[in-house]
Amino acid sequence: MHNQPLDNIMKEGSNPCTGCAACAVACPQKCIEMKLDSEGFLAPLVREQSCTECGICEEVCYKYLNTDTIKSRESFIDSRVLAVVNNYFQQIKTVSSAGVATSLALHYQAQGYSVCGCVFDVSSDACFHVVASTEREIDRMKGSKYLQSNTLSAFSELIISEKPAIVFGTPCQIYGIREVIRNRAVENRFILVDLFCRGIPSFHLWTSYKSFIKRKFGLEEPCTVDFRDKSRGWHGYGMRITDSGDGEYVQSLYNDLFFYFYLKSSVISSACYKCKFRNDLSAADIRLGDFWGSKYIDYDEGVSLVALLTKKGEEAFDAISSKLRYEECTLDDIYESQRIGAIPVPKDRMNIISSLANGDSLESVFISHRQNQLADDQT
Ligand SMILES: Cc1cc2nc3c(=O)[nH]c(=O)nc-3n(C[C@H](O)[C@H](O)[C@H](O)COP(=O)(O)OP(=O)(O)OC[C@H]3O[C@@H](n4cnc5c(N)ncnc54)[C@H](O)[C@@H]3O)c2cc1C
Repeated sequence: MHNQPLDNIMKEGSNPCTGCAACAVACPQKCIEMKLDSEGFLAPLVREQSCTECGICEEVCYKYLNTDTIKSRESFIDSRVLAVVNNYFQQIKTVSSAGVATSLALHYQAQGYSVCGCVFDVSSDACFHVVASTEREIDRMKGSKYLQSNTLSAFSELIISEKPAIVFGTPCQIYGIREVIRNRAVENRFILVDLFCRGIPSFHLWTSYKSFIKRKFGLEEPCTVDFRDKSRGWHGYGMRITDSGDGEYVQSLYNDLFFYFYLKSSVISSACYKCKFRNDLSAADIRLGDFWGSKYIDYDEGVSLVALLTKKGEEAFDAISSKLRYEECTLDDIYESQRIGAIPVPKDRMNIISSLANGDSLESVFISHRQNQLADDQT
């Protein structure tokens, strides 16, 4: 038994944990698991009897990152910024914006690369990363899932493989894998692609929302879930859930309770509010997003915002560019299109999370949240 806390990832850092799983992937003892914490986010748990305090988990972790030291080195301020549409893509309705991620995935799979990205599995009701070996598996990666993805198993698989790989993920996940591959000196065989990201909501929101949909709209257990249904177009995207019978729920983001709480950033992870990667930092070769804002307001198929951050990123984009249409843009376009900088933590965040964790209905959580807001507005 140890009297002192062990010197490992459970130690306080200057940043909150993002749940990226880099620590667990890097651990030579394999004594770190990723578990849901009380707020509904993935966090590491160390089996202390196996920990040798080697310190590798801390070396790859964002918690101990001092961003002052990387600001000038990894800023995307000087990168090439593009607006991209995908005229040749048959399945534009099934991708989030213009399907640049899918185009890269398909191209590199054909070149013999492992492709690693996020899928949502309805049977286990979980989001996780997989390493795709077929086109069908790449199909499952299409579309943004607004849930935290567990990267542990897929990232571990990539590290022991000798194949080159292209990896897609949120900026914190890509930072995590980048630190692991640097630590192992295998950076050369990886292409890293991250996403503009407004944060990851608590799983408690998803669980409560699912019960709400079943209760209110009479759906059975979901059979398919699409967080980026484009049947109303790209700008009016929304949720589409079907069950194994003829039950279907389709709603635009403007009238949906999951998106209400998500887009208000009511219950995103503590790490997301102050995310260092929402400004101008990235550990990726390419960053992808939706080109929101006024510039492409009339184009409703989906326009991707693409920032080419490294030479490798430029080459990767060149490899698929003959199948795309694009124009050069500016950094100001990024600032108009994206939510940049820290997000204030709402006063009632912990109340909402506790109510959701206690199993209160989503409607009642919504009503008390609105009452709190009204009370705040009047003071
Ligand atoms: C949680 C989240 C928040 C986002 N926030 C913003 C934002 O604020 N502004 C913005 O412009 N864009 C944001 N995006 C990115 C945007 O939604 C699209 O993913 C991006 O434009 C790429 O579109 P695409 O058509 O090229 O992707 P597709 O070709 O549809 O492929 C989707 C890609 O996203 C990856 N992915 C999907 N879900 C997840 C997940 N949960 N975790 C990690 N990777 C995932 C898949 O692996 C795949 O590579 C966000 C995405 C996510 C997942």
